[in-house]
Amino acid sequence: MTDIQKLVQVLNNMPKLEQEGDRRRFRVIARALDKKGRVLATRTNSYTLSHPVQKHFAVQAGRPDAIFVHAEIATLIACKATNKNVHTLLIARVSTSGEPITAAPCEICSIAIRKFGVKEIIHT
Ligand SMILES: [Zn+2]
Repeated sequence: MTDIQKLVQVLNNMPKLEQEGDRRRFRVIARALDKKGRVLATRTNSYTLSHPVQKHFAVQAGRPDAIFVHAEIATLIACKATNKNVHTLLIARVSTSGEPITAAPCEICSIAIRKFGVKEIIHT
């Protein structure tokens, strides 16, 4: 099983989000790996938690209202907190039926990913 397939499985094993409407059906998960492929951090997106780092990159991307933490940024924050260099960032998203769907990082996360010096991105 590949790293991204493992991440899809992690997401599918999590409890379903209770809120159904709009985008809230979708949970995104990100996982950072070091150069040797070891897991550094794994985080999901949030529809309720904000963070100054998220806000910082949201402003840079011209979307200052997008304050709720995206999975990619939550993962990068967690790695930064322990001074870990992220080599690979995996990003996965699944449909309500558990099938992987496209999880290309948004503009906000793309800026953050560049800023954090991530070498490789793999997404569903
Ligand atoms: Zn994003």
